[in-house]
Amino acid sequence: MAHEVPPLPYDYSGLEPHIDTQTMHLHHDKHHQAYVNNLNAAIEKHPELGKHSAEDLLRNINSVPEDVRTTVRNNGGGHVNHSMFWAIMKPSGGGDPTGPIADQIKKDFGSFEDLKKQFNDAAAKQFGSGWGWLVWDGKLKVITTANQDSPLMQGHFPILGNDVWEHAYYLKYQNRRPEYLAAWWNTVNWAEVNKRFEQAKG
Ligand code: MN
Repeated sequence: MAHEVPPLPYDYSGLEPHIDTQTMHLHHDKHHQAYVNNLNAAIEKHPELGKHSAEDLLRNINSVPEDVRTTVRNNGGGHVNHSMFWAIMKPSGGGDPTGPIADQIKKDFGSFEDLKKQFNDAAAKQFGSGWGWLVWDGKLKVITTANQDSPLMQGHFPILGNDVWEHAYYLKYQNRRPEYLAAWWNTVNWAEVNKRFEQAKG
């Protein structure tokens, strides 16, 4: 079965004022759709790849046939990264972390403030397009990746991530990436982040 863009689990305006409605329309309906279309086109050339989830293709990227490997890396990555991104945000989100992830953040970073500082510094410094991540690797770590590279390719499970491609923030924040990074925490869906944390440990 072909890969599909998951429907946005809230209204396009639901993340206002932190992420504007027009950005959500373009980002979800156009950018994410393009990654899915390109991924499906690559799989059409190698139908055996259709048996695997996009996540598994990324975990085993070196087993993907070379003629479509870069396409799967970029567009499979784009699909998986954005599918996570929509789910870990929600209207009236943010606030302090809750549940088991709150305890683990305290353990690995000292405090939520320390995590945010480390995450936002790293994501602000990511040169060009990419993502900032909180990943699980036996402990929580902040990393960044370029382009649509997924932490799954490095054996890390992405607990949460923020998109720092200009398409994610430029209409509202223009060149002010740090302002977007600071505002973005007001959208986080901690219940969903806890679900991912459970999956990561499982
Ligand atoms: Mn994006």
